[in-house]
Amino acid sequence: MKKILNFINGEFSEPRSGNYFNNLNPALGLAYSLCPDSDAKDVEAAIESAERAFPSWSRLAPEQRAGFLNQMAEKIEQRLSEFALAESIDSGKPVGLAKSLDIPRASKNLKFFAEASQQLHGETFRTDSHTLNQTDYSPLGVVACISPWNLPLYLLTWKIAPALAAGNTVVAKPSELTPMTAFMLCEVAKEVGLPNGVLNVVHGTGPHVGQPLVTHSKIKAVSFTGSTATGRTIATEVAPQFKKLSLEMGGKNPNIIFADADLKRALDATIRSTFLNQGQICLCGSRIFIERPIYEEFKNKFIENTKGLVVGNPLDKKTDQGALVSEAHMEKVLSYIRKSKELGGLILTGGKRFEVGGENKTGFFVEPTLVEGLPYQSVVNQDEVFGPFASLTPFDKDDEALMMANASRYGLVATLWTSNLNRASYFSKNLETGIVWVNTWLNRDLRTPFGGVKESGLGREGGLDALKFFSEVKNTCTVTV
Ligand code: NAD
Repeated sequence: MKKILNFINGEFSEPRSGNYFNNLNPALGLAYSLCPDSDAKDVEAAIESAERAFPSWSRLAPEQRAGFLNQMAEKIEQRLSEFALAESIDSGKPVGLAKSLDIPRASKNLKFFAEASQQLHGETFRTDSHTLNQTDYSPLGVVACISPWNLPLYLLTWKIAPALAAGNTVVAKPSELTPMTAFMLCEVAKEVGLPNGVLNVVHGTGPHVGQPLVTHSKIKAVSFTGSTATGRTIATEVAPQFKKLSLEMGGKNPNIIFADADLKRALDATIRSTFLNQGQICLCGSRIFIERPIYEEFKNKFIENTKGLVVGNPLDKKTDQGALVSEAHMEKVLSYIRKSKELGGLILTGGKRFEVGGENKTGFFVEPTLVEGLPYQSVVNQDEVFGPFASLTPFDKDDEALMMANASRYGLVATLWTSNLNRASYFSKNLETGIVWVNTWLNRDLRTPFGGVKESGLGREGGLDALKFFSEVKNTCTVTV
């Protein structure tokens, strides 16, 4: 079986313990490669190497650093099919999705921050005729980037690109469930001659690698994307060390569909926003609020289109829905489907594990599932399920929709479908989320701030927000006489 390796000080290396665990192909339910089960010793070596690399990397002109990131992006583009195939096998997502979304976005992240870092600049404040304040941004040092499994290379590059572009050196820990494309990214880093130690990747579990990494005294900032539970653990451990901390966490996003919406567009987008990547995107809508006059019509078409989704082998180009990332995650999703029934919900379509058959018979597939009839406060409408599953609820009044949408401990994104701009504006102001999409979904301009409120996040990624997160700002006040 292929062995994934750590990347420390510009070299691929085995974990010091020599331990590995199986890395599964979720569409087959079988191990296909080995992931290092690294520990604190590997983390220490990676941090030391990043520390050694920091002085010269941080002194390079932003343009020179950008040159490396652009070369890495180009290498990813040259190997698009290979990266997409690897991402699909590792995560269970349809290969077409990896090829059209995940991998292109990974190279775009690198190019975007290469360019954006040229725009990071200080400001001057003339206080009076002889007093001038000047702000200046400088890199922090060694930073930690921790990423999840749902968009493996996409989210890893979303973190390491601004960190490196701003002049920091990085120790990254990808999800232990999807380590393959991070390994390939290190091949790319080596190929383009990224100086040794600038990017280090240590593979392994949260407790063995993530925990010693984020708590290490030499780590100046932690950028984390993953579940709220892990984010809370990291915040608890890291806050007393006064490190910079960015947390992008879970969601339970509302989609609100008004009777005055363009229903065809709303329906097509809601199918996508519910089921893309098997519903395993933090931005997916899973609470669908539909205005009463169109409830039955919208529901019936939603069911019909959901039934039309092709579930199956992620490597088959016709497949819309691949496998869930792991057996444990599939069981979690199925447990919420069972809970829906126990709580009196009606399963409108789907509702069980999907039997693909053939070589995929042991894969982790779940039927795209819709349920109705659950109170908005029910546990199913409150907990993040993160699978091909959504709950439909009718509403009569705008304020009722707003109240139900905000009745969540999460606050990442809300999506509205309406032709009434006054209403859109009112909702946008009053929805308790970091992002609002009106008549669109997953529409990302990388310059915009990205992140959540409440238990969905702390801080913002994207654009200059990300570059500023990975920088320290200093104000110098000079008085001339
Ligand atoms: P997770 O929290 O289980 O793991 C995320 C990462 O944290 C992994 O690399 C994991 O190994 C690591 N980790 C675990 N324990 C750790 C510890 N104690 N210290 C340091 N690192 C540790 O999340 P997941 O299951 O991989 O990802 C799914 C979750 O991510 C969902 O909740 C989803 O909503 C969220 N997510 C959020 C966003 C966003 O932008 N808000 C984007 C994608 C995914």
